[in-house]
Amino acid sequence: MSQSNEKFMTANFHAHTFRCQHAYGTEREYVETAIEMGIKKFGFSDHVFCPFKNGEVSGMRMKLSEVEDYVHTIEQLRQEYKNDIELYIGFETEYMRAFYEEQVKICKDYGIDYLIMGQHFLGTEFDGPYAGTPTEDEKVLSTYVELVLEGMQTGNFTYLAHPDLIHYIGDSKIYDKHMRYMCEEMKKMDIPLELNMLGMATGRHYPNETFWKIVSEVGNKAVVGIDAHDTNIIQNINAYKNCINIAKKYKIEVLNEAKLRKIS
Ligand SMILES: [Zn+2]
Ligand SMILES: [Zn+2]
Repeated sequence: MSQSNEKFMTANFHAHTFRCQHAYGTEREYVETAIEMGIKKFGFSDHVFCPFKNGEVSGMRMKLSEVEDYVHTIEQLRQEYKNDIELYIGFETEYMRAFYEEQVKICKDYGIDYLIMGQHFLGTEFDGPYAGTPTEDEKVLSTYVELVLEGMQTGNFTYLAHPDLIHYIGDSKIYDKHMRYMCEEMKKMDIPLELNMLGMATGRHYPNETFWKIVSEVGNKAVVGIDAHDTNIIQNINAYKNCINIAKKYKIEVLNEAKLRKIS
Protein backbone atom coordinates (compact mmCIF):
# COMPACT_ATOMS: atom_id res chain seq x y z
CA MET A 1 0.00 0.00 0.00
CA SER A 2 2.77 2.44 0.86
CA GLN A 3 4.59 3.66 -2.23
CA SER A 4 7.43 5.09 -0.19
CA ASN A 5 11.00 4.00 -0.33
CA GLU A 6 11.73 1.87 2.74
CA LYS A 7 15.34 2.97 3.02
CA PHE A 8 15.34 6.67 2.33
CA MET A 9 13.45 9.24 0.35
CA THR A 10 14.22 9.99 -3.28
CA ALA A 11 12.48 13.38 -3.35
CA ASN A 12 12.37 16.20 -0.84
CA PHE A 13 10.82 19.63 -1.31
CA HIS A 14 11.35 21.10 2.14
CA ALA A 15 14.68 22.79 2.88
CA HIS A 16 15.82 26.18 4.16
CA THR A 17 18.93 28.26 3.59
CA PHE A 18 20.95 30.67 5.73
CA ARG A 19 18.85 33.50 4.26
CA CYS A 20 16.01 32.84 6.69
CA GLN A 21 18.48 33.65 9.49
CA HIS A 22 17.93 30.40 11.42
CA ALA A 23 19.24 27.74 9.00
CA TYR A 24 22.85 26.81 8.33
CA GLY A 25 24.92 25.65 5.41
CA THR A 26 25.12 26.64 1.78
CA GLU A 27 22.92 25.41 -1.01
CA ARG A 28 25.92 23.60 -2.43
CA GLU A 29 26.39 21.63 0.80
CA TYR A 30 22.72 20.68 0.82
CA VAL A 31 22.81 19.58 -2.80
CA GLU A 32 25.96 17.52 -2.37
CA THR A 33 24.59 15.87 0.75
CA ALA A 34 21.30 15.12 -0.99
CA ILE A 35 23.16 13.50 -3.89
CA GLU A 36 25.20 11.37 -1.46
CA MET A 37 21.96 10.23 0.14
CA GLY A 38 20.52 9.13 -3.20
CA ILE A 39 17.93 11.89 -3.43
CA LYS A 40 16.95 12.50 -7.06
CA LYS A 41 14.73 15.56 -6.68
CA PHE A 42 15.47 18.29 -4.18
CA GLY A 43 13.52 21.48 -3.64
CA PHE A 44 14.54 24.52 -1.66
CA SER A 45 11.61 26.06 0.18
CA ASP A 46 13.08 28.82 2.25
CA HIS A 47 10.86 30.97 4.47
CA VAL A 48 9.16 33.34 2.09
CA PHE A 49 9.96 37.05 1.93
CA CYS A 50 7.18 39.31 3.12
CA PRO A 51 6.70 42.84 1.81
CA PHE A 52 5.85 44.44 5.16
CA LYS A 53 4.55 47.97 4.84
CA ASN A 54 5.43 49.46 8.22
CA GLY A 55 9.18 49.07 8.06
CA GLU A 56 9.04 45.79 10.00
CA VAL A 57 12.14 43.64 9.52
CA SER A 58 11.62 39.94 9.99
CA GLY A 59 14.10 37.83 11.91
CA MET A 60 12.85 34.52 10.55
CA ARG A 61 12.53 34.86 6.76
CA MET A 62 14.59 36.04 3.82
CA LYS A 63 14.43 39.59 2.63
CA LEU A 64 12.84 40.47 -0.68
CA SER A 65 16.23 41.80 -1.77
CA GLU A 66 17.73 38.31 -1.31
CA VAL A 67 15.35 36.49 -3.64
CA GLU A 68 17.43 37.25 -6.70
CA ASP A 69 20.56 35.65 -5.24
CA TYR A 70 18.55 32.70 -3.90
CA VAL A 71 17.16 31.98 -7.36
CA HIS A 72 20.46 32.59 -9.10
CA THR A 73 22.44 30.34 -6.72
CA ILE A 74 20.08 27.41 -7.17
CA GLU A 75 19.92 27.90 -10.94
CA GLN A 76 23.71 27.66 -11.12
CA LEU A 77 23.73 24.48 -9.03
CA ARG A 78 20.90 23.08 -11.12
CA GLN A 79 23.09 23.40 -14.19
CA GLU A 80 26.24 22.14 -12.48
CA TYR A 81 24.59 19.03 -11.01
CA LYS A 82 22.06 18.36 -13.76
CA ASN A 83 23.32 14.80 -14.27
CA ASP A 84 22.97 13.95 -10.58
CA ILE A 85 19.86 15.61 -9.24
CA GLU A 86 16.87 17.74 -10.23
CA LEU A 87 16.69 20.97 -8.27
CA TYR A 88 13.59 23.07 -7.67
CA ILE A 89 13.16 26.59 -6.33
CA GLY A 90 10.29 27.16 -3.96
CA PHE A 91 9.17 28.85 -0.79
CA GLU A 92 7.53 27.74 2.41
CA THR A 93 4.91 30.33 3.15
CA GLU A 94 2.18 31.14 5.59
CA TYR A 95 -1.08 32.12 3.98
CA MET A 96 -1.18 35.80 4.92
CA ARG A 97 -4.22 37.50 3.45
CA ALA A 98 -2.59 40.94 3.51
CA PHE A 99 0.45 39.87 1.48
CA TYR A 100 -0.59 36.84 -0.50
CA GLU A 101 -1.32 38.43 -3.87
CA GLU A 102 1.85 40.47 -3.86
CA GLN A 103 3.93 37.46 -2.85
CA VAL A 104 2.43 35.31 -5.59
CA LYS A 105 3.08 37.98 -8.19
CA ILE A 106 6.73 38.27 -7.16
CA CYS A 107 7.09 34.47 -7.17
CA LYS A 108 5.71 34.35 -10.70
CA ASP A 109 8.04 37.13 -11.80
CA TYR A 110 11.00 35.09 -10.56
CA GLY A 111 9.71 31.86 -12.08
CA ILE A 112 9.48 30.14 -8.68
CA ASP A 113 8.65 26.45 -9.20
CA TYR A 114 6.35 25.77 -6.27
CA LEU A 115 5.05 26.76 -2.84
CA ILE A 116 4.42 24.70 0.24
CA MET A 117 2.33 26.09 3.07
CA GLY A 118 3.68 26.18 6.59
CA GLN A 119 1.16 28.12 8.66
CA HIS A 120 3.56 29.15 11.42
CA PHE A 121 1.49 32.12 12.48
CA LEU A 122 -2.16 33.02 12.38
CA GLY A 123 -1.13 36.40 11.04
CA THR A 124 2.46 37.42 10.57
CA GLU A 125 5.29 36.96 13.07
CA PHE A 126 4.44 40.48 14.28
CA ASP A 127 0.74 40.04 14.92
CA GLY A 128 0.86 36.27 15.65
CA PRO A 129 0.21 34.13 17.56
CA TYR A 130 2.71 31.38 16.74
CA ALA A 131 0.71 28.30 15.81
CA GLY A 132 3.00 26.03 17.84
CA THR A 133 2.31 27.74 21.17
CA PRO A 134 0.20 25.44 23.38
CA THR A 135 -3.32 26.80 23.61
CA GLU A 136 -6.75 25.80 24.88
CA ASP A 137 -8.41 28.49 22.80
CA GLU A 138 -10.73 26.89 20.24
CA LYS A 139 -10.67 30.10 18.22
CA VAL A 140 -6.94 29.69 17.61
CA LEU A 141 -7.50 26.16 16.35
CA SER A 142 -10.46 27.08 14.14
CA THR A 143 -8.61 30.11 12.73
CA TYR A 144 -5.63 27.94 11.85
CA VAL A 145 -7.90 25.56 9.93
CA GLU A 146 -9.75 28.44 8.26
CA LEU A 147 -6.53 30.09 7.04
CA VAL A 148 -5.02 26.83 5.85
CA LEU A 149 -8.10 25.95 3.82
CA GLU A 150 -8.60 29.45 2.42
CA GLY A 151 -4.98 29.40 1.23
CA MET A 152 -5.19 25.90 -0.14
CA GLN A 153 -8.27 26.81 -2.15
CA THR A 154 -6.13 29.15 -4.24
CA GLY A 155 -4.64 26.00 -5.77
CA ASN A 156 -1.09 27.30 -5.49
CA PHE A 157 0.21 25.05 -2.74
CA THR A 158 1.90 21.73 -3.41
CA TYR A 159 1.35 20.44 0.11
CA LEU A 160 0.76 21.36 3.73
CA ALA A 161 3.95 21.25 5.81
CA HIS A 162 3.68 20.04 9.40
CA PRO A 163 -0.14 20.24 9.43
CA ASP A 164 0.04 19.26 13.10
CA LEU A 165 2.10 22.31 14.08
CA ILE A 166 -1.03 23.83 15.64
CA HIS A 167 -0.74 22.95 19.31
CA TYR A 168 -4.24 22.79 20.74
CA ILE A 169 -4.19 21.13 24.15
CA GLY A 170 -7.84 21.56 25.16
CA ASP A 171 -10.73 19.11 24.77
CA SER A 172 -9.77 16.26 22.45
CA LYS A 173 -13.25 16.25 20.86
CA ILE A 174 -12.78 19.85 19.79
CA TYR A 175 -9.34 19.05 18.34
CA ASP A 176 -10.82 16.12 16.48
CA LYS A 177 -13.72 18.14 15.06
CA HIS A 178 -11.60 20.92 13.56
CA MET A 179 -8.66 18.82 12.39
CA ARG A 180 -10.93 16.19 10.86
CA TYR A 181 -12.71 18.92 8.93
CA MET A 182 -9.34 20.21 7.71
CA CYS A 183 -8.32 16.72 6.61
CA GLU A 184 -11.62 16.13 4.82
CA GLU A 185 -11.29 19.37 2.89
CA MET A 186 -7.64 18.66 2.07
CA LYS A 187 -8.66 15.27 0.77
CA LYS A 188 -11.27 16.83 -1.55
CA MET A 189 -8.51 19.03 -2.96
CA ASP A 190 -6.16 16.05 -3.16
CA ILE A 191 -3.34 17.92 -1.45
CA PRO A 192 -0.95 15.81 0.63
CA LEU A 193 -0.04 16.35 4.27
CA GLU A 194 3.53 16.30 5.44
CA LEU A 195 5.15 14.07 8.03
CA ASN A 196 7.88 16.42 9.20
CA MET A 197 11.33 14.96 9.76
CA LEU A 198 12.66 17.96 11.66
CA GLY A 199 9.88 17.74 14.22
CA MET A 200 10.56 14.03 14.53
CA ALA A 201 14.33 14.44 14.85
CA THR A 202 14.13 17.18 17.45
CA GLY A 203 11.32 15.78 19.60
CA ARG A 204 8.84 18.55 18.91
CA HIS A 205 5.09 18.17 19.51
CA TYR A 206 4.72 17.08 15.87
CA PRO A 207 4.32 14.64 14.19
CA ASN A 208 1.37 14.22 16.56
CA GLU A 209 -0.09 10.71 16.45
CA THR A 210 -3.52 11.92 17.50
CA PHE A 211 -3.56 13.92 14.28
CA TRP A 212 -2.19 11.13 12.08
CA LYS A 213 -4.87 8.77 13.39
CA ILE A 214 -7.46 11.24 12.04
CA VAL A 215 -5.54 11.38 8.74
CA SER A 216 -5.75 7.63 8.56
CA GLU A 217 -9.52 7.63 9.11
CA VAL A 218 -10.11 10.37 6.54
CA GLY A 219 -7.75 8.77 4.01
CA ASN A 220 -5.40 11.62 3.10
CA LYS A 221 -2.13 10.93 1.39
CA ALA A 222 1.14 11.91 3.04
CA VAL A 223 4.62 12.96 2.03
CA VAL A 224 7.73 13.04 4.18
CA GLY A 225 9.51 16.41 4.25
CA ILE A 226 12.99 16.87 5.67
CA ASP A 227 12.52 20.54 6.64
CA ALA A 228 16.31 20.84 6.48
CA HIS A 229 17.79 23.74 8.44
CA ASP A 230 21.25 22.16 8.17
CA THR A 231 22.82 19.31 6.24
CA ASN A 232 22.85 16.85 9.16
CA ILE A 233 19.15 16.18 8.99
CA ILE A 234 19.43 15.28 5.29
CA GLN A 235 21.40 12.26 6.56
CA ASN A 236 19.02 11.39 9.38
CA ILE A 237 17.71 8.05 8.20
CA ASN A 238 16.24 7.32 11.63
CA ALA A 239 14.01 10.37 11.55
CA TYR A 240 12.82 9.27 8.10
CA LYS A 241 12.11 5.75 9.30
CA ASN A 242 10.24 7.03 12.32
CA CYS A 243 8.01 9.10 10.03
CA ILE A 244 7.41 6.10 7.80
CA ASN A 245 6.61 4.02 10.88
CA ILE A 246 3.80 6.40 11.84
CA ALA A 247 2.38 6.02 8.33
CA LYS A 248 2.65 2.25 8.56
CA LYS A 249 1.08 2.13 11.99
CA TYR A 250 -1.97 4.05 10.74
CA LYS A 251 -1.97 2.60 7.21
CA ILE A 252 -1.45 5.97 5.56
CA GLU A 253 -0.25 6.06 1.98
CA VAL A 254 3.04 7.93 1.65
CA LEU A 255 3.79 9.30 -1.81
CA ASN A 256 7.35 9.03 -3.09
CA GLU A 257 7.06 12.64 -4.12
CA ALA A 258 4.48 15.37 -4.07
CA LYS A 259 3.26 16.44 -7.47
CA LEU A 260 4.41 20.04 -7.78
CA ARG A 261 1.61 22.53 -8.43
CA LYS A 262 2.41 25.44 -10.69
CA ILE A 263 1.88 28.89 -9.23
CA SER A 264 -0.84 30.72 -11.12
ZN1 LIG B 1 7.72 25.25 8.69
ZN1 LIG C 1 10.36 24.55 7.01
